[in-house]
Amino acid sequence: MRVCVIGTGYVGLVTGVCLAHIGHHVICVDNNEEKVKLMKSGQSPIYEPDLSELMKGSMTAGNLEFTSDLEYGVDNGDVLFIAVGTPPLPTGESDTRYVEAVARGIGAHLKEGYKVIVNKSTVPIGSGDWVRMIVLDGVAERQQSLATVGGNPSGEEALAQITAEFDVVSNPEFLREGSAVYDTFNPDRIVLGSNSQKALDMMVELYQPLIKRTVSDNQELPNVPVVTTDLNSAEMIKYAANSFLATKISFINEVANICDRVGADVVEVAKGIGLDSRIGTKFLQAGIGWGGSCFPKDVSALIHTADDYGYEAELLKSAVNVNKRQRLITLEKLQHELKILKGKVVGLLGLTFKPDTDDMRDAPSLDLIEQLNRLGAKVKAYDPIVSQTGMRHGLSGVIVETDPERLADGCDALVLVTDWQQFRNLDYAKLSKLMNSPVVIDGRNFLDRDAAENAGFHYIGVGH
Ligand code: NAD
Repeated sequence: MRVCVIGTGYVGLVTGVCLAHIGHHVICVDNNEEKVKLMKSGQSPIYEPDLSELMKGSMTAGNLEFTSDLEYGVDNGDVLFIAVGTPPLPTGESDTRYVEAVARGIGAHLKEGYKVIVNKSTVPIGSGDWVRMIVLDGVAERQQSLATVGGNPSGEEALAQITAEFDVVSNPEFLREGSAVYDTFNPDRIVLGSNSQKALDMMVELYQPLIKRTVSDNQELPNVPVVTTDLNSAEMIKYAANSFLATKISFINEVANICDRVGADVVEVAKGIGLDSRIGTKFLQAGIGWGGSCFPKDVSALIHTADDYGYEAELLKSAVNVNKRQRLITLEKLQHELKILKGKVVGLLGLTFKPDTDDMRDAPSLDLIEQLNRLGAKVKAYDPIVSQTGMRHGLSGVIVETDPERLADGCDALVLVTDWQQFRNLDYAKLSKLMNSPVVIDGRNFLDRDAAENAGFHYIGVGH
């Protein structure tokens, strides 16, 4: 099928590349000219395992194009994905202005034939109908400008506009940064919301290779379940899923804080409760709290929506509050160990909000850097991606070192902020000798306590 993906961030680029890989012809549109230039040269603007290789493969096969020309994308796509950002506003609501701009732009370029407009961006409940309205506004504006600027539109063009036909589908995305390609090829389910059976049928056809698991790691598994529902329910599924996962993490963090006080070990507790099939082992790792571009904004947006409709989402508000407090737990632990932080040097192992990504949006490290600076500590950091690629993401108040030894040199404490796999195998004996005082706060309960202690560290975990 002919696909156009508008917005080539973590979701749009991965979606475009993966759809091209399974045989569709994909045009990726972005209004950031620099990004488009980079992608046209075969380079990915984001770090995501396997993405660059697949991208180059599909470009060579002629299945994947990049452009900043929205009209070209709309003209040549039967399925048009909206995958632009919906960042949080200070009030907690989603900022939908990028979705609005794209929907209006699609409307302004719709000419002939049937199109399916797919909302992949995470958008407030009710946005499906709103997108339809904005697209129609775009169509009307174009019709009006043709009538006023150039006199009456030519008969052919007027007819083409009148026959323009489209439906809107909500297709929320569940990929995780750091394993986005894997998640796209191995989805737990595909959610499609629309009131048009024709549009739903086209989406099922588009995803057929994924549904049949032709590119899954395990092709023996049964077909991927497809949840077809109405627009509002599809949009709510995305918010409910992220809110549940964030709440689960806040729950285990609360348990960890109680463990710290009563002398229990949250790692053992999580194992013990996670083996209950009703609970499950995932998202039960205690640590310094959740972050990233999705959980914080999606939970806030759902709280805000509930508020708009006269309901106070108390459980979700508590999950957010526990998370805010959790980010400061490391600070309390540092104060307990080092006492006065003014004049002390703290080294952060990891900066990104999770491993295998370069995404720094709402990363817990940012709060930690800000608070340590406020208390007069000097902050250094080493991150496998941020340090190696020179990406600084507007970081301030932190010296980004190029290797773990330079990081440890002269530090009063190390804090493991991101559980990058390679942090398990650092030469901790060497690092401890380079430090003023060999303290490590393991913000992810990721290191082997015995190994760290044998390497000369005073090890402190979270509820562990
Ligand atoms: P992003 O910020 O990484 O990318 C957005 C892209 O859209 C950017 O490249 C930007 O240049 C482009 N863009 C903005 N306005 C545009 C316009 N008018 N025309 C063309 N391009 C435009 O965002 P993301 O992380 O990929 O998230 C996209 C959506 O998917 C959000 O709603 C997010 O909540 C949702 N989502 C994200 C993830 C994730 O892990 N990042 C997972 C699931 C869902």
